[in-house]
Amino acid sequence: MSAVLPTPSGHPPKGTHPNALGGKSIPPFAHAYRTADETLFQDLVRAGFRRIVLQTPAGLQRNALELGRTIRERTGADVIHVTRTCFGACDPPAATEVAGAEALVTLGHAPIPNMPLALPTYFVEMRTSEGDVEALARKVAEAGLPARLGVVASIQHLDLVGPLTEALGRRGITLRSGEGDARLAYAAQALGCNYTTAERVADEVDGFLFLGTGLFHPLGLAYAVEKPVWSLDPLQTTLAPPLDRDGMVRRRLLTIARVMDARRWGILVSTFGGQNRMAMAQRLRERARSHQREAEILVFDRLESRDLLARDVEAYVSTACPRIALDDGDLYDRPILTPPEFLSALGERPLTPYQFDTYH
Ligand code: SF4
Repeated sequence: MSAVLPTPSGHPPKGTHPNALGGKSIPPFAHAYRTADETLFQDLVRAGFRRIVLQTPAGLQRNALELGRTIRERTGADVIHVTRTCFGACDPPAATEVAGAEALVTLGHAPIPNMPLALPTYFVEMRTSEGDVEALARKVAEAGLPARLGVVASIQHLDLVGPLTEALGRRGITLRSGEGDARLAYAAQALGCNYTTAERVADEVDGFLFLGTGLFHPLGLAYAVEKPVWSLDPLQTTLAPPLDRDGMVRRRLLTIARVMDARRWGILVSTFGGQNRMAMAQRLRERARSHQREAEILVFDRLESRDLLARDVEAYVSTACPRIALDDGDLYDRPILTPPEFLSALGERPLTPYQFDTYH
């Protein structure tokens, strides 16, 4: 089943989810599917593309060649695989990587509504409803969590939010989830750079549940909200204790303190379509100069630690994916701050409350 959402250009998106946020526009050319299902193949055939590019994140590589074969057989189109590491919906292949391509099929990501797309893009979100909802609800209730909880989920497990809300409601626990800003396609959706779905209900809850697997999202959520974050893994039916937010924030404050007197700064800007905040970088450069600091803008696509070796700077501020500074900072030979941390280092904003670098 599909529904058509309004788009700024009037270009009719096909195969978009009926549960996309009410009235929220998605970019022209964006189409979203729960899985690589019949609707996807029919839409590709109808569009009559001659060359399709397939982009697959590391965790889904196993399915890529088979899906590519199926798309080729079903559509008659030439299928080319993009093999460079793909971080999110924010880094679609550049035009030079996919010369001659007429469409992109990308696995494991939801559309970013406010991100322009160069090609018609078919987001196959790889959703699953796997997970025993009653057992998950029992786990939460028996662990004695607060009766007012917020919830966010990775795109793969988003379909479980509704059933889990009902199951917990029967046990006296209220689950709240908010609508995000223009970077998020769905209510309750978590993106590693944007937890506005959680921030918008933070005043009404006493803690948060992250529904999904791994540590990437719970870590980001813990930076973004000043409330305990529990991780509920629907595949393992496990509930992990809250992360040590105070310790995480303390480490960031120490990093800021180390570079408060730095005179020479590099401001990192990514060329990826959904990670490029050049205007912000230019504003930060002006702020730095107004504090008598030197600051230069450094542009990259995929950041490698070796690219920053031997640069004549004392510290960096990254305007690209906020998780570069927060999760991977130790990989680089100089400290890397996020933009709000940089403003704290300049003395323009207080160190606390800690502000997550939400990518809007
Ligand atoms: S900017 Fe970072 S966290 Fe946000 S979608 Fe891209 S890779 Fe994920």
